[in-house]
Amino acid sequence: MKFYRPTEECGIFGIFGHPEAANLTYLGLYALQHRGQESCGIVSSDGRSLSAHKSMGLVADVFGNQEIFRSLPGPAAIGHVRYSTTGDSVYKNVQPIMVDYSRGSIAVAHNGNLVNAQIIKDELEAWGSIFQTTMDTEIIIHLLATSKQNSLEDRIVDALSRVKGAYCLLFLTETRMVAARDPHGFRPLCLGKLGDSWVVASESCALDLIEAEFIREIEPGEIVVIDKNGLTSLSPLKKVEPAPCIFEFVYFARPDSYIFGQNVYEVRKEFGRQLAREHHVEADIVIPVPDSGVPAALGYAQEAGLPFELGLIRNHYVGRTFIEPQQSIRHFGVKIKLNPVRDILKDKRVVVIDDSIVRGTTSRKIVKMVRNAGAKEVHVRISSPPTSYPCYYGIDTPTRKELISSSHTIEEIRKYITADSLGYLSEEGLLQSVGTGSTPYCKACFSGSYPIKFPKLAAAPQLDLF
Ligand code: AMP
Repeated sequence: MKFYRPTEECGIFGIFGHPEAANLTYLGLYALQHRGQESCGIVSSDGRSLSAHKSMGLVADVFGNQEIFRSLPGPAAIGHVRYSTTGDSVYKNVQPIMVDYSRGSIAVAHNGNLVNAQIIKDELEAWGSIFQTTMDTEIIIHLLATSKQNSLEDRIVDALSRVKGAYCLLFLTETRMVAARDPHGFRPLCLGKLGDSWVVASESCALDLIEAEFIREIEPGEIVVIDKNGLTSLSPLKKVEPAPCIFEFVYFARPDSYIFGQNVYEVRKEFGRQLAREHHVEADIVIPVPDSGVPAALGYAQEAGLPFELGLIRNHYVGRTFIEPQQSIRHFGVKIKLNPVRDILKDKRVVVIDDSIVRGTTSRKIVKMVRNAGAKEVHVRISSPPTSYPCYYGIDTPTRKELISSSHTIEEIRKYITADSLGYLSEEGLLQSVGTGSTPYCKACFSGSYPIKFPKLAAAPQLDLF
């Protein structure tokens, strides 16, 4: 069986000490739906045992029946939304994972990706462990269950000191909820309060929905234990230089969220302003590729003194095109998702803003669409540097072979997407826009410099464009 399935892009949410814990977790997951649309699940605790409901599908579909919440009793719950690509999108990999072991029951929800998963798995199997899923998350459960330590906290610390990579984790036992963030702090995780209950969420937008107060972010390397006596914070893991993921700002997080100390919308707008300074072009209007390009397009238009228009209208009932696993479906996806507003585009010199180019498929379709709608010129501006390297820490990116900028120059990409001009935000411009002084962000997808080493990267093979 193929094992190594990174958990990839996911969202997690948990609440402790509220009579409607499962209902609130449902709402929290609803706000985090953008972090994963493939499957979702909730595990609750009534103080004596854990109950679970999980399935493939969107949050509103999986939890579409009020009856379900009767089967999720208790004042504590954790939940998970999961995104995965082709291959292992199967029920057994839906999270939270729940198991019974010598000390009772435990459930875990994970956002991120462990880089030494296969090595530990081989070791555990040699000692007789049997794995039920193809997710790296299950390794943490095995390490915890086989730990020689006594208390739950010590077992978790023991397990986490063995794994390397990106993780934001939520554990739930009969009586406790534990949150943990890896020492690099790759993925965001925040702590909130709703009355007397503690809330943990991948992004602050989930706190807003349930009207919980944002307290603070969970620090890199911090483990937070919540039980009936309140909250205890531990920092037992070896300190390393933080490396929060800059791509969360570029694309992944919701613009209304505060992550890594900043509002995502403001940061994206600044990317746009900086992009306008770096890649000026004579034009009539600026349009975003909705939704991810909107804040950067606003920033670009303001800085360039050009009108901002919605030249492409998005059908909001279609999932992100990237989710479709097959190239053939992806081609189709762009068309069903976006439609041009002809009267806005006709005879105009148009600047089109998107957050990133991955394979180039979307940009190529969009340029064609905008030109067919009557635009005189189409200038593409991307609010991040070329994405030339895959992410091993929890963002779903294709292999180097499929990343267009890993093997093509900007001019070659411009030709491929048939734009009149193409400009990417520079790495310096990106960092300057995030502007938090000394935070050393992970920007491995742009620079190839990985904060945690991973098995040797293959040289990028040539991607056939034409
Ligand atoms: P592509 O057609 O492969 O070049 O995809 C580019 C589009 O995918 C852009 O519009 C981005 O907003 C979006 N995108 C970038 N990174 C991701 C990701 N990791 N997951 C889903 N969509 C993404």
